[in-house]
Amino acid sequence: MPKTTRAYIALGSNLGNRSAFLRAAVDALNEHARIQVTRISSVYESPAHILPGQSPLPDYLNAVIECETSFSPSELLDFCLSVETSQGRIRDNETRWAARTLDLDLLLFGSQTLDSNRLTLPHPRLDQRKFVLIPLAEIAPNLMVPAPFNQIVRYLLETCSDLSEVVISDNVLTMPGA
Ligand code: ADP
Ligand code: MG
Repeated sequence: MPKTTRAYIALGSNLGNRSAFLRAAVDALNEHARIQVTRISSVYESPAHILPGQSPLPDYLNAVIECETSFSPSELLDFCLSVETSQGRIRDNETRWAARTLDLDLLLFGSQTLDSNRLTLPHPRLDQRKFVLIPLAEIAPNLMVPAPFNQIVRYLLETCSDLSEVVISDNVLTMPGA
């Protein structure tokens, strides 16, 4: 591969065969010639965040992967969105937090910061979500998260005010080919 960047992607599913969707996402990412998955966190389960007045949603399975990629941030986002679609995700523009088969969010792309109308890096809500910080801290506790956070992952987790319960699940995502 030409020059690559280390990126971190959050995976989530709360609809259908959730662990199969996470597995399919890891495989699809790694099968692309311009992406190599290098680390995979444990799989965690947590209640879906809902808006006031919204009906309850099924629980999520979440994980975070580390990869090396020769894509640009925008190309990596496009590929993630195409993987979501290929795994049956239907975007409901009315319901912001509808249940989904697969959600792939770009958390970090090297030390790059970006704020365009379709992509913000680092992920703007990264510090508010224990279901992201716990798996990220498992695989990269000392990683420096660039502006506006300017803290390492472990510190962001220790100071996170999200009170939701995030528990480790029995599901295991193995490295592709392992
Ligand atoms: P969410 O993940 O917040 O629940 P969606 O998955 O529906 O919402 O994403 C909506 C849009 O967010 C995507 O189409 C994408 O253009 C935009 N977006 C902005 N920053 C990011 C990021 N860091 N990772 C993923 N999507 C992002
Ligand atoms: Mg998303």
